Amino acid sequence: MVNTLVIANQKGGVGKTTTAVNLAASLCAMKRSVLLVDLDPQANATTGSGINKCDQTEGSAAALMGTSGDVIFSTNLGYDLMPSGPELISAESFLRGGGDQERALLNYLSEIKENYDYIIIDCPPSLNLLTLNGLRAAQDLLVPMQCEYFALEGLAGLLETVSQLNSSTGHNLQLKAVVRTMFDPRNKLGQQVTGELQKHFSSELYSTVIPRNIKLAEAPSFGQSALSYEPNAKGSLAYLALAGELIGRMEDQYTNNSHEQRQV
Ligand code: ATP
Ligand code: MG
Repeated sequence: MVNTLVIANQKGGVGKTTTAVNLAASLCAMKRSVLLVDLDPQANATTGSGINKCDQTEGSAAALMGTSGDVIFSTNLGYDLMPSGPELISAESFLRGGGDQERALLNYLSEIKENYDYIIIDCPPSLNLLTLNGLRAAQDLLVPMQCEYFALEGLAGLLETVSQLNSSTGHNLQLKAVVRTMFDPRNKLGQQVTGELQKHFSSELYSTVIPRNIKLAEAPSFGQSALSYEPNAKGSLAYLALAGELIGRMEDQYTNNSHEQRQV
């Protein structure tokens, strides 16, 4: 059964794309089949996966606008990619002018989702129609956050958007994972924000933390994941641990559900 996970946080530069690429690569290393969807016109997940930015006749723009170009490409990092490019912005205005509005990606993925164990969607740093498409197409939300002063306010704003989307569309997107990124255990603020997260999001807060690690920042310029660039780097190991925790939580829920069903 496919797990569809959207990675969103309207705050910029918090590690959404780094998490999307490295989680996708780590899940592949654990023998899961993965599709990574790049919904950001900046196309960082695309170039970071070693694929050229595409125009609006291909990739996620083509999926959103229903045009006939190639949509899914294979990468050297083990996963498939729905790439993006700067012209994805025109797909946003296309959707705004009618089209399938926030359902376009959901409609596209419903045709192909059974080919994958995980679909991971990387969103731009804003709550626009592209992000709404990502939220609408997924079952579960992963929020990467830096443990900084305004981080919790940003999370509250995102959850408000999710709850509005759910109530206006009948969708049931759930916050499943809050992941601390670029974490420095010596930083007092990091400990304080962690305390707040434990108070308010105890079941969603992942115990795996992603440390600040230069290899994570270097790998994309070679079109590589940290795992393929420097497998033993702290950052690579942290994302492997994150994938392990994700698999444990996501796949256990099916085992538990089917166990409960058997008992009924
Ligand atoms: P945007 O909002 O612009 O899409 P983002 O949330 O996707 O940004 P990233 O692009 O993943 O964030 O990360 C922002 C910058 O921080 C990048 O230069 C990335 O290489 C770097 N970075 C991300 N995570 C780490 C980390 N754990 N250690 C060191 N550098 C990191
Ligand atoms: Mg990004």
